[in-house]
Amino acid sequence: MFIFMFNICKIRFFKVISHYMKQSQLFTKTRREAPSDEVSKNAKLLIRGGFIHKEMAGVYSYLPLGLRTLKKIEQIIREEMNAVGGQEIVMATLHPSEPWKQTGAWDSVDVLFKIESRTGKEYVLGQSEEEIVTPIMKDYINSYKDLPKAVYQIGQKYRDELRAKSGVMRGREFTMKDMYSFHESQEDFDRFYQIAKKAYLKIYDRLGLVAKATEASGGNFTEKLSNEFMVLTDAGEDDIVYCESCTHCANIEVSKEKEGESCPKCGKSKLVLAKASEVGNTFDLGQKYSKDFNFTFKDKDGEEKHPIIGCYGIGVTRLMGTIVEALSDEKGIVWPESVAPFKVHLLAFGKDEGVIRESTELYNDLSTNGIEVLFDDRDVSAGEKFKDSDLIGIPYRVIVSEKSLLGGGVELKKRNEEKNEIVGVPQLLDMFRK
Ligand code: ATP
Ligand code: MG
Repeated sequence: MFIFMFNICKIRFFKVISHYMKQSQLFTKTRREAPSDEVSKNAKLLIRGGFIHKEMAGVYSYLPLGLRTLKKIEQIIREEMNAVGGQEIVMATLHPSEPWKQTGAWDSVDVLFKIESRTGKEYVLGQSEEEIVTPIMKDYINSYKDLPKAVYQIGQKYRDELRAKSGVMRGREFTMKDMYSFHESQEDFDRFYQIAKKAYLKIYDRLGLVAKATEASGGNFTEKLSNEFMVLTDAGEDDIVYCESCTHCANIEVSKEKEGESCPKCGKSKLVLAKASEVGNTFDLGQKYSKDFNFTFKDKDGEEKHPIIGCYGIGVTRLMGTIVEALSDEKGIVWPESVAPFKVHLLAFGKDEGVIRESTELYNDLSTNGIEVLFDDRDVSAGEKFKDSDLIGIPYRVIVSEKSLLGGGVELKKRNEEKNEIVGVPQLLDMFRK
């Protein structure tokens, strides 16, 4: 019996970390004000909600709530990258300077963080990883039979950005997913490129965002394939024009297209100008890096050839900021269910014995059913619990109060809807189980 109880406790304890949490135990607290030097909405809300902690301009730490969301964004990206055949790796972020000198990036990339050791040796902090991934793949790919291959990682990047005023959307340290693909021919690259592009659009969709892929204008066929993925938000740093009738979209920094002109693709609507955030991009790097590193494979006729390399980036932490910018309201964050830190925010109002008993029981029921729940069991006013819940932005709010119990159950309200209803506990559990 004792061993049985002990095991239950162990399971429960494990689940406390992974699945459910009492707000009284959470070390972070919400804040009324963000630091005065913080200008962006995303950082203000994320700091106030206790998701992130600011270390300096463009550098943030991720706290329990923020980390949960970040990991969910990463997992969605990971699933879609695995689905197109990407193999996950983790590359070093502290790099020797030699490969960066070999490609010319040592002198040409202005955001490159260079470090000098006390021994006089020079190092680089990874800002993108062509210089590392190309020599890795060169060690393993010898023949056309080894191609195509795609590898990716999700990890920290470092850039000496001049302007870091967009909160987590432009960091000096930030999380990126970067994938690299290797092909024996242009034809094979083009085939894979379209698959990767589709996977990108699926990722943004799963994150609750509408992303548009910019297109090179004027059907310039000599240009290499590339796309930027843009989400409309005033907090974005890019200006784009897009068509409201079709998927056409162009970055006005590169394109000659102008607001008010008719869409060059469908001709049905006039182009609209908007601010957008670049949440990813995809490129044909051609043979630049395979030539720089003398990376060749034997083709079908036994000839040595340089593979074509593609690169595919997604700004993971920028996505988190973009979601906050695009979906929050005046009260706080509105997380899409797919990346919310928890699914249910359970609020117990008052010290009534029935309320305490019912809310604790519901908390146990939700957690044993595998439903992620944050239980606001703190000894604070209902008003404060409401305010914090709106700020933190969990999709479903469940209130247990004397009033709701008299009404025959608990009060259920979605974060993004005004209407609320009283539902019976069995009915609620059924709904969440589905
Ligand atoms: P930007 O034009 O916004 O500086 P970039 O062209 O330098 O972006 P890449 O080097 O291709 O971007 O990086 C891939 C992705 O990483 C970008 O699409 C963006 O989503 C994200 N990203 C780039 N720089 C930052 C940064 N400083 N902070 C957060 N995310 C970033
Ligand atoms: Mg940049």
